[in-house]
Amino acid sequence: MRRKLIAGNWKMNGSLAANAVLLNGIKGELGQPTCTVTVCVPAPYLAQCRAELAGSPVAWGGQDVSIHDSGAYTGEISGGMLADFGARYVIVGHSERRTYHGETNELVAQKALCALRAGLVPIVCVGESLAERESNQTAAVVGAQIDAVLTRLDPKDLAKTVIAYEPVWAIGTGKTATPQMAQDVHAMLRAKLAEKSAEAAELVQILYGGSMKPDNAKELLAMPDIDGGLIGGASLKAADFLAIVRAA
Ligand code: 13P
Repeated sequence: MRRKLIAGNWKMNGSLAANAVLLNGIKGELGQPTCTVTVCVPAPYLAQCRAELAGSPVAWGGQDVSIHDSGAYTGEISGGMLADFGARYVIVGHSERRTYHGETNELVAQKALCALRAGLVPIVCVGESLAERESNQTAAVVGAQIDAVLTRLDPKDLAKTVIAYEPVWAIGTGKTATPQMAQDVHAMLRAKLAEKSAEAAELVQILYGGSMKPDNAKELLAMPDIDGGLIGGASLKAADFLAIVRAA
């Protein structure tokens, strides 16, 4: 039985004051969760998360990582730097980075490897656009995104990787994939992982992301291959985030 993972993706939101309210709200009401919980925050707030969350059951992580370890790469943040701040997770290949920063499948794969090398757990995002779904290309697009990672990944690292299926048309739109739509893609992804390592494929957590909210989380999380959620908007309110954690 895979343990569920609920990960908040704050995206480019927050301030010291707002984060303090949010983190204290989560910490204060969380108790001992039955799933793993993390928040992935803008880099300037990693130190705040470390200070507020150390000793709590909530882990913290970044939202992107460089493919370089150090050097003349202005604006980049290395996996080692994230690890230095106690980060456990890092999101790689979010559709917003693919769209606005031109990240390719190959670059995303390299980022996943860099994260693993730094001892972080990469949360590798995949997902199709609305046009791709409507033209029946979901399996091809998502398949190519995951294959780029799988061809580069050492089989022993597969079990240390998290995958997030985030249909682009469901992100921030209030339109959620139905549990069955998501399950179908998750099952396809797990079958791809199994081609690399059948044992590891059973261990990898595959998260769903895209307008997951307290009122739809339970149904989605009940599907056999949905092992958690990557939560955007609803991770910015302690009550909503906690409700999703409790649904897991
Ligand atoms: P929303 O939950 O706001 O739709 O965002 C999902 C997401 O992109 C998480 O990475």
